[in-house]
Amino acid sequence: MAEAQANASSMLAMLRTISQEVNAARDLPAALAIIVRRVRAAMKSHVCSVYLYNEETDRYVLRATEGLNKRAVGKVSMEPGEGLVGLVGSRGETLTLEDAMSHPRFLYFPETGEERYASFLGTPIIHHRKVLGVLVVQQKERRQFDEGDEAFLITMSAQLSGVIAHAEATGSIRGLDKKRGKGIQEARFTGVPGAPGVALGTAVVVLPPADLEVVPDKATDNIADELILLDRALSAVREEVRLLSSRLAKRLRPQEQALFDVYLMLLDDNALAGDVRRQIKAGQWAQGALRQVVEKHLQRFERMADDYLSERAADIKDLGRRLLSHIQQAHQQTLVYPDNTILVSEELSPAMLGEVPPGKLAALVAVEGTRNSHTAILARAMGIPTVVGAQDLPYTRLDGIELIIDGYHGDIYTNPGPLLREQYEQVIQEEQQISRELDSLRQLPCVTPDGHQITLWANTGLAADIPRAQQRGAEGVGLYRSEVAFMNTARFPSESEQVQQYREQLAAFHPLPVTMRTLDVGGDKPLSYFPIKEENPYLGWRGIRISLDHPEIFSVQLRAMIKASAGLDNLRILLPMISGIHELEDAQYHIHRAWRELCDEGLQVKLPPVGIMIEVPSAVYQAHDLARMADFISVGSNDLTQYLLAVDRNNARVAALYDYLHPAVLAALQQIVSAAHDCNRPVSICGEMAGDPLAAVLLMAMGFDSLSMNATHLPRIKWLLRQMPMQHARQLLQQTMQMDSPYLVHSTLVLELESMGLDKALNPGASVQI
Ligand code: PEP
Ligand code: MG
Repeated sequence: MAEAQANASSMLAMLRTISQEVNAARDLPAALAIIVRRVRAAMKSHVCSVYLYNEETDRYVLRATEGLNKRAVGKVSMEPGEGLVGLVGSRGETLTLEDAMSHPRFLYFPETGEERYASFLGTPIIHHRKVLGVLVVQQKERRQFDEGDEAFLITMSAQLSGVIAHAEATGSIRGLDKKRGKGIQEARFTGVPGAPGVALGTAVVVLPPADLEVVPDKATDNIADELILLDRALSAVREEVRLLSSRLAKRLRPQEQALFDVYLMLLDDNALAGDVRRQIKAGQWAQGALRQVVEKHLQRFERMADDYLSERAADIKDLGRRLLSHIQQAHQQTLVYPDNTILVSEELSPAMLGEVPPGKLAALVAVEGTRNSHTAILARAMGIPTVVGAQDLPYTRLDGIELIIDGYHGDIYTNPGPLLREQYEQVIQEEQQISRELDSLRQLPCVTPDGHQITLWANTGLAADIPRAQQRGAEGVGLYRSEVAFMNTARFPSESEQVQQYREQLAAFHPLPVTMRTLDVGGDKPLSYFPIKEENPYLGWRGIRISLDHPEIFSVQLRAMIKASAGLDNLRILLPMISGIHELEDAQYHIHRAWRELCDEGLQVKLPPVGIMIEVPSAVYQAHDLARMADFISVGSNDLTQYLLAVDRNNARVAALYDYLHPAVLAALQQIVSAAHDCNRPVSICGEMAGDPLAAVLLMAMGFDSLSMNATHLPRIKWLLRQMPMQHARQLLQQTMQMDSPYLVHSTLVLELESMGLDKALNPGASVQI
């Protein structure tokens, strides 16, 4: 038992070390070399090889080996199904053979010299359902690979598949450096839509200060200048070290003091500095050269068993960071923003947007972040196409290369080829043309040819949303996300600060209604001054739950909203994340109390209508009870889809499963509308689907009284619905409600709009064929 546990933990440690090393590898060949060397040693086998699938040739190609003839690398290949490797690849299953040669599929490749190996264990390398290749170990003598061996190889392969996929993508990008130009291959990465729109432009990577790990490789034409930068940084850091040393002289023992001499030695030309200089002379910019050299030294040091020496790794890291911060300071002033800049960063901050000169910013990409992060909200208000949560994007390598950003679908294309570029250029042109045509619709109501009228509202948050919503003909606000105002401050805003913010929105749209949602933080919406740490934030403390637990915060907000509406009377209060009637009852109590207080204070103001958001499955099933108690209903389909389908709306890995045209979501929506109308309550929808032309047709047919959306989508939806007879939309709804698959619903709707000549309304990019 104890032995089994010890084995398991040493295996885990081994897996971890290999993964770390592979993760740190600079490119795919380096990663593969580590894999074959380490796996062969770990499994005590004679051979370990990796074959990767090449889509163009439809063959598995030997890409790295430890044990077989290395000259066979890149030369030996087999079709799916051919040989043992091809068999593992095409079946997508592990194969263990004690006597490989007696297997009918055994194929002999003389170049490899593998006739000497009797036993074979091969497992597919699978990433996102795709077989990327095959990982093989072989043994000279007959060896019965046991279940433990199989499990180890499968675990290894599963851990490495992501790294290989990433390295493959990275490799393809690196080969495509704009300078090297030729043989350009485009790559596609997926994130989460942050703000709608499409853009084509040049990536400008913004790095967090002095973070060595994320420094990109970048070729330089100006080697002399980069060498000067390095020399200046070296002298500055030497000076820093001497200063530190003299400051601490009295407090340190001589042997500790000697550490600083080590630092100075490391900065010497025989050590770090010389290596960095060589890399720069080979054409790498100073920052990239520094990162490469530090990484190389770190790997060497960290692998050393000696504690003293492995400690030196920390010194190297520290020196690396110090040097980098000096080099970066010198570079700061020289950041140039080309026309059509696409800002790419790990996390984008509003300040970064501010630094791009007006008119140059085309799009934004963030590796971290969610569609509710501050920058995404800002981007939506500014109408800048944005993709967030692009976790697989090797963003540090993108600087200066051409990108296409599809903020409708959350896609990023690197180095687009002529075909893709042409398609998107056309999309951008069409978008501009449509938006000019749509201007004329601004004053017109959204009435179908057979006389059905539906109200189109805008979703707002920032003050900047007001003019955009008005320009696009919004008939009011269906969702004002009050938390946005809370994200802009360093503490909870005071009552009077809130009154001012709310009044601005209410007055701007008066007499049209403004639906103000009470604070909806938690989940993916953090407040820096109110941190919430939870294992499972989406099922945790969020929305109305926080407000009810903090009446002192809730009542200030309610008072501010009601106060702000005095004399305007166009406020509607909306409660987020209601999951049962108690929450509604409790919230209503606080609203009445706040209103009474204000009346007692002498304010003449009407009690505003109070509605609830239905965005939790329990509220769908209790829609009747809730509708009876509320004045109106608004469906938060973003969260409702996430909770009904159990798919995180901000996780790019499961983005393909997040589909509001899923029959289960459509059935829930229909049920909510019926419940609301049974109780004579108006019902609207304010999630993203309201702004999707395909969904909007169904939503209108279901009977939603109003659709509330990002102002960007509003003219397009109006144009479409004004040409879509309600009668026809109802038939389409009837037809699609019979369907059992979201894909079927989607394609039926697309075909129908095409046949009616209304496909121009589809979100651009929907028709782009990759
Ligand atoms: C929703 O969940 O659909 C919604 C509109 O709210 P938010 O996107 O702000 O969570
Ligand atoms: Mg929500």
